[in-house]
Formats: sequence, C-alpha cells, structure tokens
Amino acid sequence: MELENLTKIYPGNSTPSVDSVNMEIAAGEMVILVGPSGCGKSTTLRMINRLIEPSSGRIRIGGEDVTDIDPVKLRRKVGYAIQSSGLFPHMTVAENIALVPKMIGWSKSKVKDRVEEMLDLVGLDAREFHGRYPRQLSGGQQQRVGVARALAADPPVLLMDEPFGAVDPITRDHLQDELIRLQHELHKTIVFVTHDFDEAIKLGDRIAVLREQSHIAQFDTPEAILTNPADDFVSGFVGAGAALKRLNLTRVRDVEIADFPTVGVDDPLQTIFDRLRSESTNELLMLDRRGRPYKWLRRGDLMRAKGSLARAGTLVHDHVTRDATLRDALEAVLTDSGGRVAVTGRRGEYIGVVDMETLMNSVHEMLEADRLAAMEHRHELEEIRAPQTRHAQEGLFTEPGAPKEPS
Ligand code: ADP
Repeated sequence: MELENLTKIYPGNSTPSVDSVNMEIAAGEMVILVGPSGCGKSTTLRMINRLIEPSSGRIRIGGEDVTDIDPVKLRRKVGYAIQSSGLFPHMTVAENIALVPKMIGWSKSKVKDRVEEMLDLVGLDAREFHGRYPRQLSGGQQQRVGVARALAADPPVLLMDEPFGAVDPITRDHLQDELIRLQHELHKTIVFVTHDFDEAIKLGDRIAVLREQSHIAQFDTPEAILTNPADDFVSGFVGAGAALKRLNLTRVRDVEIADFPTVGVDDPLQTIFDRLRSESTNELLMLDRRGRPYKWLRRGDLMRAKGSLARAGTLVHDHVTRDATLRDALEAVLTDSGGRVAVTGRRGEYIGVVDMETLMNSVHEMLEADRLAAMEHRHELEEIRAPQTRHAQEGLFTEPGAPKEPS
C-alpha cells in the first residue's frame, strides 16, 4: 500500500489536519501509527478507506489507484475495526459479520459458511454466539466479533483504529496476543492506530511515530526506534523505562522455558510421593487429564493431604503462552507465591515454566545487547561521516570559493 502526499484539510480549518503523508507499507506487514492525541492518526487511517475524503494525494493498494474508486468496492479490499467494536446493536453476531459479504453480493450459503469460519477464527463457538446480540457479549467478545466482521470479506488490507482501547488491560493483552496469532496465519496488510507506545512495540512490524499533522517523526522497526530514536520527540515517546519497554517487546518464546516436575491428576498417591523423593524439588505441578496445568503441589501439601489430594495444593490461576510478552509473564510471576508461571501451548497444554530469575537475567542481557547495538550503530555512522568531513576539509568536495561544509 502506498500513501502519496495524502492530505486532509477539514472544512472551516485553515491548516491541514494531515499534511502530505508519504508512506509505503509492504504486503503482509503490520504497521502501527502512534502519536499524541489529535496528531491526525485517525484522519490518516480513515482516508485509506474513504470514510474521510482526502483533500489531495493518492492511495494505491496492490498497485491499483483506489483514491477515486467506489467506496463500496473499497470494502472488499479494506476491512475496518474500531474501538468498542462498532457492532450494530440491533443485529445478531452473525448478521454483523455477514454485513460486507452480503453487501458485495456473496451467495447465502457462502455467507453462512464464512460467518462460522470467522467466529472460529477469532476463538468464539459459532453455535453459542451466532444468534446473540452485541449487548449479550463481554467487551472482549464484542471486540473479537468486530475483528471477525472486518475480516469477513477476506480483504487484503485491514485498518484498525484503537480497536482494543476500550477493554480492560488483561483482555487487551489477550486480544493483542490473538491478533499476533491471526496475523501469523493470515498475513494481512494491517494499519493499526494507537496512542499507546507499548501496544505499538508489541504489535508492530514497523512503527510510524507521528507528530502534529501526521508528520512522520520516525518510521522504523520497534527495535530501531527503541535503540535509536530519531529525535527528542521520539525519545519522549520511547521515554525512560527501557527495561519495561524491553519486557513488552520480548516474548516468552525468546527466553529459556524450563522443565518442571509434573504429575497427572489420576496418578496414584504413591507415584506422586515417589516423584517428590526422586526430584530435588519441594514442589510438583499437577496436570489435568488434558495435560493442562491444574495445581501446584508442595511437599507440605502432600504431608497434610492424608490420603486424598482433592483439596491439596494451590490451583494454577494464571498461565502464559509462548506468544505472551515478558511483561505478561512478569505480572503472572509477581502474583504467584512461588515466583513462576506455567507456559502453555495452543490447547492450553503444559510446556514448561518461566521463573523470576530467568526473566531478570533475560532482561539484563537484552538491555546490555541493546546498549552495545546502539553504540555499534553510532560507530558505523561516525565511520560513514568521517571521510566526507575530511574531504570537505581538504576542499575536495567544495567549489572553489564556496563556503566549506561545517564539520
Ligand atoms: P488522532 O486520531 O491522532 O487523535 P484525529 O485524526 O482525530 O487525531 O484529528 C486530527 C486533527 O483534526 C485534530 O486537531 C482534530 O481536532 C481535527 N479534526 C478531526 N476531525 C475533524 C472534523 N470533522 N472537523 C474539523 N476538524 C477535525
């Protein structure tokens, strides 16, 4: 997708709200527009699907100039998801999802199949949710239906305007994880607006940090922006708290996931005792019949259990997937009395554990690596600049009589 000199002057305003944005976004890339409130993020986004008509400039998708095509046709190419899901309250979940496919003339049976497929894709049971109305859903579920609706006509491009802005932080984290998982499968070209830099670094392949009038302060990968902010404005966004940012940027899959001694919920008591004796640990993780973390069992719990484990141990109340950020993991570790969190796979099955020490060591190492990388980058820049400066001083690149470049 290419945006070329895209500009919006709202009627009655003397200055543009979006001033000549130029941006190229590769197919399958997730780009985040981030910047302070009022800098023109939403206006930029809504010009892409013509909810707002550009004052000037062009938009190309897949090489085709779509600036002037019929907005209904544009819906096939561009899905749109917004804060608070934007679902129509008088329509069922199925009707909401079916909206665009119907509008562009899909057959009834194709639409029906697609609705089921979409609900499944966003992790909602089709039979259960199909006929519900939006008010009968939680905020997170509404947001999932909003994403399902945006994807229903299988558009190559997906625009998302603060889609997770209105849900609680835990649900937001889950929805972000889901979006990452979806994107692994679907490879859409996504433009995502947020004012939350942490969300931007978690989700973005690249981030465009915008200042007023959608002027691009920096457009680069999260790593590059974190280690090499272009100017004070970007630094302000990246801000202090590099360690916390790193926690957001790194995923559980990037750190060492350790083994933990496990037992099954149906194992005989004797087996469990033997296991405790043979391991150099005071604790076991009990898995349920589907191999999912169920209870933490300490030696003392077993001593007190007196023959039945039904009430022994502490229920596992939190777990993270490999796609979760280290921040999610840290939160879980901090709220667990044992100082660790179980890592689970796609179906919730146990994979391993991550503990406090692993998290601390990993973040230390990454911060050190970031500092080294930033220093190397500065050296490289200095090497590139240095010869030119020398030549300039020797007068090789300056016209006779012309003022010398400041070195
Ligand atoms: P952001 O999404 O970054 O918060 P917006 O794109 O919503 O910013 O707004 C950018 C600027 O355009 C703001 O200064 C806002 O006041 C102005 N603006 C937005 N919508 C309108 C409108 N319909 N009429 C006039 N000015 C508007």
